[in-house]
Amino acid sequence: MYEIKHWIDGAQVAGGSGRTADVFNPATGEVQATVPLASADEVNAAVAKAAEAQKGWAATNPQRRARVMMKFGQLINENMDALAEAISREHGKTLPDARGDVQRGLEVVEVCMGGPHMLKGEFTDDGGSGIDLYSMRQPLGVVAGITPFNFPAMIPLWKLAPALTCGNAMILKPSERTPSCSMMLAELLKEAGLPDGVLQVVHGDKEAVDAILDNETIQGVGFVGSTPIAQYIYGRAATNGKRAQCFGGAKNHLVVMPDADLDKAADALLGAGYGAAGERCMAVSVAVPVGEETADRLIEKLMPRVEALRVGPYTAGEDVDFGPLITGAARDRVKGLIDKGVEEGATLLADGRDFRMQGYESGFFLGPTLFDNVTPDMEIYRQEVFGPVLSQVRAASYEEALKLVMENEYGNGVAIYTGDGDTARDFAHRVNVGMVGINFPIPVPLSYHTFGGWKKSAFGDLNQYGPDAFRFYTKTKTVTARWFSGIKDGGEFNFKAID
Ligand code: NAD
Repeated sequence: MYEIKHWIDGAQVAGGSGRTADVFNPATGEVQATVPLASADEVNAAVAKAAEAQKGWAATNPQRRARVMMKFGQLINENMDALAEAISREHGKTLPDARGDVQRGLEVVEVCMGGPHMLKGEFTDDGGSGIDLYSMRQPLGVVAGITPFNFPAMIPLWKLAPALTCGNAMILKPSERTPSCSMMLAELLKEAGLPDGVLQVVHGDKEAVDAILDNETIQGVGFVGSTPIAQYIYGRAATNGKRAQCFGGAKNHLVVMPDADLDKAADALLGAGYGAAGERCMAVSVAVPVGEETADRLIEKLMPRVEALRVGPYTAGEDVDFGPLITGAARDRVKGLIDKGVEEGATLLADGRDFRMQGYESGFFLGPTLFDNVTPDMEIYRQEVFGPVLSQVRAASYEEALKLVMENEYGNGVAIYTGDGDTARDFAHRVNVGMVGINFPIPVPLSYHTFGGWKKSAFGDLNQYGPDAFRFYTKTKTVTARWFSGIKDGGEFNFKAID
């Protein structure tokens, strides 16, 4: 058992609220740690100290702030294995997948190393006679990041790296289910030269989140999590005059055209459907083959692959494809959805409900599950399952497949597998989803682009990381300047002959 603490003013600080949450080892089902749940007073005290620290940090020139990111990036690389271990221990994902979690966050830190370039303003010379206009980007002050359990390194890094690079202080409220990685990142940032108080890690649940939303000093809130909470946070933050970007849940489809390479499509569905036990906001949970023949052939390709999947604890190393779900409650919820799918008439081709891991009988494991003949009215289709369950919805035509995707309430990611450029182009142009993959299953954009879904997958108007993050974490100030005649008119500057 270990006790996790808050990170306040550059040091570990025990919680004072008297409330804690259990942190499980999902592979064994055992409670391995406790995490403090901050009271509103603890949140407010952390914010007040962050506001003091932010003044000096904002006055530190941008290239010095960027140098902290350079050192931070180096330290993340040096500590990659330890960070990945901390993730796997609390989340349950495999070590290679946990390293990917760190890597995709590190890439945003790398972009922040060039932060000064992103913070340059704009200038119009002679906008009117003798009048210049210039705009500058200034930090918001204190901002907050509220993050989900499923990417304990990547999403905190997506939040804190741009926010700090822009000169803000941040209150990071990581998921109470996977809190340790954020503490390690805070320690590495201190080692990289971040002044104390500029990043405060405050653990907690709804009480801490509500305190963040109601705190008048906090100017901006970046949230990632489930859709109902994203919508709630967006509304309450906006009511309190804060800017907010809140990213929610997903239901990602992969459309398979009759001309697609079906082996490649099946491989893509396997990794994107079952990787990290399906606990990814960019997981593909719906396969949409076009035409009965494509659907039948795709199932033929998928079945042996699904049956060969290896489920187990992260400690089994490279021999495991995916691990347990995050909690017993999450596993039971997914099991319930599988029951419901059977009840509603979907064809259950692979059933993971009775999966037992020898030696880990109390772990939160579920085996891979595959449904065929799922229809849009079924609960298994309507809900974000967030488990190792892939549903096949058969479409009669390309237009029917596109309509299915368009009518889904979520719009995070989508993919199409085809050999035809015209179809792919039409799909990318028309689909109402924020991130599109063409023969690419999980289209998480690179860190110098931006990440964000449409429809109920995101609330707010700017995406995460890339140029949008620098806009989100700064305010624009525009100056219109005119100088009346000065020394140049009064002085004698010409080289003249002396009479
Ligand atoms: P969650 O919504 O339960 O929790 C997210 C954060 O909100 C946590 O920090 C949690 O403590 C806090 N929270 C939970 N309930 C709250 C409440 N009632 N009031 C205030 N705060 C509350 O999400 P999760 O289970 O940790 O993560 C999984 C979800 O996140 C999935 O829906 C997944 O699709 C989504 N997700 C989205 C993205 C994206 O970029 N769109 C990325 C990763 C995960």
